Amino acid sequence: MNRHYSPSQLGMWTRCPRQWQYRYLEGLMLPPVGAMALGSAVHRASARHFNGILACRPGLAHAAFCDAAAEAYDAAAAEVDWTGDGHDREGEDRGALKDTCVTIAGRWRAERCDHLDTPIAVEARLETVFGDRPWSLVTILDLVTSPSGADTTTVTVRDLKTKRKAPAGAIRGTPSIDESVRDQLLLYAEAWCATAATAPDRRPQLPALACEYAWPRGTVSVPLAPSRAAIDLVIEDLDAMHAQISAGLFPRRRQGWHCAEKTCGYWSRCMAAIVTDR
Ligand code: SF4
Repeated sequence: MNRHYSPSQLGMWTRCPRQWQYRYLEGLMLPPVGAMALGSAVHRASARHFNGILACRPGLAHAAFCDAAAEAYDAAAAEVDWTGDGHDREGEDRGALKDTCVTIAGRWRAERCDHLDTPIAVEARLETVFGDRPWSLVTILDLVTSPSGADTTTVTVRDLKTKRKAPAGAIRGTPSIDESVRDQLLLYAEAWCATAATAPDRRPQLPALACEYAWPRGTVSVPLAPSRAAIDLVIEDLDAMHAQISAGLFPRRRQGWHCAEKTCGYWSRCMAAIVTDR
């Protein structure tokens, strides 16, 4: 059967194949947590801003950008399962998260949005096939920029990541991209190349990549230079994931922060039914 995989599916599979089984095979959707509402709200405001520029309109001014993020947060937060006193399953406070969302949106708008190259694609959904493999890759690229809008050969694929705290190394001036985000960006590079190819055997040069971190106290753009070898390794991971899925193998990966009552939404269905004295 042909399957569509995304970088976030690979991320979930890498954390725990059993989570993937619950979510993508059994279709057990979990209500989003507040942090997801925050992230999607900043992305929506950013997409509105850059889509305006793409359509030759002015982008959103700072206040309008923050308002757009607040409005998008309210809409996204309506999907979150809050307790009576306004906390999500991770214990985050609904009102405090909204303030953080607006602060992060303001940072991103003030510190980065006017300093990027010309946008040439915003929230672009791309589907990439790999020869006769029985799966395809579906990606959504936050933002693709070029020094001159007309020049699509020298591009940077940018991924916006909202965080509550500075990313690793940022305070010391040596920010880094964590492994799962790195794989995600490499797949974006591959997807962009495949889309921009004029013929299957004539792929353009790999785009530059940048992880755009925004948190309440700052922003930083962390570049990543993709290589064909690094991309091929991630594609190999997708092949291995597909082989295990086809064989019906979904082992529990219990080691790590993700396997706990507070962090795995499938805990009650999975580990709680087995373990009583962890
Ligand atoms: S409870 Fe642990 S093993 Fe089970 S799905 Fe969640 S992370 Fe995986």
